[in-house]
Amino acid sequence: MKPYVIDHDLHIHSQLSLCSSDPGQTTGRILEYAINNGLSTVCLTDHFWDPSVPGASGWYAAQDLDHIKEALPLPQAENVRFLFGCETEMDKYFTIGISDKTVDMLDFIIVPTTHLHMDGYTLDASVGYDGDGIKRRRELYIERFARLLSADLPFHKIGLAHLTCSLACHHAERGILRLLEGISDQTFSELFSSAAKKGLGIELNFDAFEYEGADKETVYRPYRIAKECGCKFYLGSDAHHPGEFERAVDNFREIVKTLGLCEEDKFRLGTR
Ligand SMILES: [Zn+2]
Ligand SMILES: [Zn+2]
Repeated sequence: MKPYVIDHDLHIHSQLSLCSSDPGQTTGRILEYAINNGLSTVCLTDHFWDPSVPGASGWYAAQDLDHIKEALPLPQAENVRFLFGCETEMDKYFTIGISDKTVDMLDFIIVPTTHLHMDGYTLDASVGYDGDGIKRRRELYIERFARLLSADLPFHKIGLAHLTCSLACHHAERGILRLLEGISDQTFSELFSSAAKKGLGIELNFDAFEYEGADKETVYRPYRIAKECGCKFYLGSDAHHPGEFERAVDNFREIVKTLGLCEEDKFRLGTR
């Protein structure tokens, strides 16, 4: 079996994302990253809430369709496909912030179910970081994943962003690790089996060098189960600044090696 080739990055922000606002993070710089690293596909995924879907927070309201379209036209190079996508959101009512019309228009849409740092918006403001708070975050982690799976979406162009992101529980010590530890293999298997059946892309995006020993395995466990369930994976750096491009490919390489991924495990955007 052919080893998984690192030839894409499908989660990249430009300066248009308010959490970047970095004048150096231009689409030209992103294209340069692709060329320098031999990536044949990159996708722009700025934060986005569709104005036609009620419920944008103030932060998202400023990141509407006109805003993300300011990146167009995307620069192209001979051997690089530079795609136009977005990172939308799921609010606390499990509403996903994108209309069918915009889904049709974009090349790729990623949905972060783990953005549980937006108190009052993606979860009730009363959910804290003590034992009960972590328990509630774990329940939401599972429910938000399940809600995405039951949404009426063309899953061949949908990705599930950063499943082991610390934002899900970022104020508690070892927060994301404690959250993940409490989810059974059985629960993950059910979620990932459904994801595999629907064709939802699973994003690989975490710092492969941050954890060691048992903690490292805690982060890898969901992805190992996803692989067993037949899920397909894509790489995403979630870069917001040019400096993050420097080690992105080394990080991808480490994750792919640790999971033992093959080309067959690759999510292929645009194939049903
Ligand atoms: Zn995100
Ligand atoms: Zn992102």
